[in-house]
Amino acid sequence: MAGLSCGYHLQKAGVRFAIVESSDSVGGRVQTDIVDGFLLDRGFQIFLTSYKEAQAMLDYQSLDLKPFYAGALVRWNGAFHRVADPLRHFGDGLGSLPNPVGSPIDKALVGLFRLKSLLKSEDAIFQSPETTTYSRLKAEGFSDAIIDRFFRPFLGGIFFDRDLNVTSRLFEFVMRCLATGQNCLPSKGIGRVGEQLASQLPSDAIHTGTRVESVTGPIPGQPGRVRVEGGQTICASQAVVVATEAPAARTLLGEAMASSDSKSEEAVGTANLYFRAPRPPREENVLYLNGESIGLVNNACFPSTVAPSYAPAGQALVSLSTIGTQSDLSDSELAEKCKAEMAEWFGQDEVATWQLLRVYRIPFAQPNQTPPTDFSRAVNLTNGLFVCGDHRDTATLDGALKSGRRAAEAVLAATAALPVSSKEVVGTTV
Ligand SMILES: Cc1cc2nc3c(=O)[nH]c(=O)nc-3n(C[C@H](O)[C@H](O)[C@H](O)COP(=O)(O)OP(=O)(O)OC[C@H]3O[C@@H](n4cnc5c(N)ncnc54)[C@H](O)[C@@H]3O)c2cc1C
Repeated sequence: MAGLSCGYHLQKAGVRFAIVESSDSVGGRVQTDIVDGFLLDRGFQIFLTSYKEAQAMLDYQSLDLKPFYAGALVRWNGAFHRVADPLRHFGDGLGSLPNPVGSPIDKALVGLFRLKSLLKSEDAIFQSPETTTYSRLKAEGFSDAIIDRFFRPFLGGIFFDRDLNVTSRLFEFVMRCLATGQNCLPSKGIGRVGEQLASQLPSDAIHTGTRVESVTGPIPGQPGRVRVEGGQTICASQAVVVATEAPAARTLLGEAMASSDSKSEEAVGTANLYFRAPRPPREENVLYLNGESIGLVNNACFPSTVAPSYAPAGQALVSLSTIGTQSDLSDSELAEKCKAEMAEWFGQDEVATWQLLRVYRIPFAQPNQTPPTDFSRAVNLTNGLFVCGDHRDTATLDGALKSGRRAAEAVLAATAALPVSSKEVVGTTV
């Protein structure tokens, strides 16, 4: 996403560039596989319509975004309890006041915090004083009940961290995004986002299946060099942008990155299991959250109830997500354990009909985002080397897009004095 975004903005400025990507398709962590007619996003992901960079770059209409219900069903103490956005589902919001997911005061506080989040710009949120999300929730007056039953599975599912150690800035950001937009799935899968961006770039500028082994920036009289697997070298007259995940960027950029490093604490991961089913146990386009302190499944949904194109006609797709990759379990053990949990939620007879389609284990879903954070890290590393990716901004789809734009702008600023014909940039994925 960061590399494609950088290319998008360079192209708009009339700069020639090449994108070099090691895998066989674009999109990085945002991809969709088609398996037996089902659309399987590589890890459960949600597209937020309020993402500002995405709004500027993407054609939402052709993404054909299908919204989730604005709220969730929380599984707690043997039953589902509804949490609803009262501004979008007033009756449901009112009806959920007495449920045990939190006190009526907690629910009023959610509404209040949602309003407060609108008073700050996104930039102000990212600059504001930070603590962990857990501490912030306590400081805002939320009870342990709503923290444990709603915020842990909800924010934990977004940031793969049920301990809520992730920075409070992201909590504010998410609340702002939810207040200003909808949670959606593109009808052709989340991978369509990267494909749409790539389709706006010259097709001969993108080189997939090409792993970069080393990079050097241009110096006066000598172009930058991008050496790829197999020994070929690509020359870049003005700049090299590295748009990989942080660990790969560190390897490629060495000293240049060390002078302005991204956070290096342990990344967070997830496992995502997909099953085919003859029908969804409930038709609602809602996210199901595990409000208990035990269990492997953190969140579940039936993507085909949100976007019917996620499953062939007459069938349904089941998506279950865990925090961490559960690497001590084989795929079949993990699937059986998750199904046993889901039998309690949706009934043994329903779940017995589910057949495993695929398990995705994603050890590096997002870089570490615990405090202290810096969501506007430098992208110009000097000497013709630039860096972007979700480790320089927020680890979200929009953060990656933003970092790509910032890198493109930094390249343009650094090469402003050069004649247009000599502006040429090469990067790894850019
Ligand atoms: C399971 C999951 C769920 C998520 N859910 C959400 C969500 O709901 N909402 C949200 O906003 N965000 C979500 N995210 C986060 C978001 O997807 C990422 O933050 C963002 O896509 C990162 O984009 P990126 O361009 O920075 O990095 P990447 O997507 O990792 O791209 C880096 C690219 O560099 C390539 N590369 C690496 N090394 C080399 C090399 N040596 N040579 C050539 N190419 C190389 C890789 O193949 C990859 O294509 C989720 C992520 C995951 C994994």
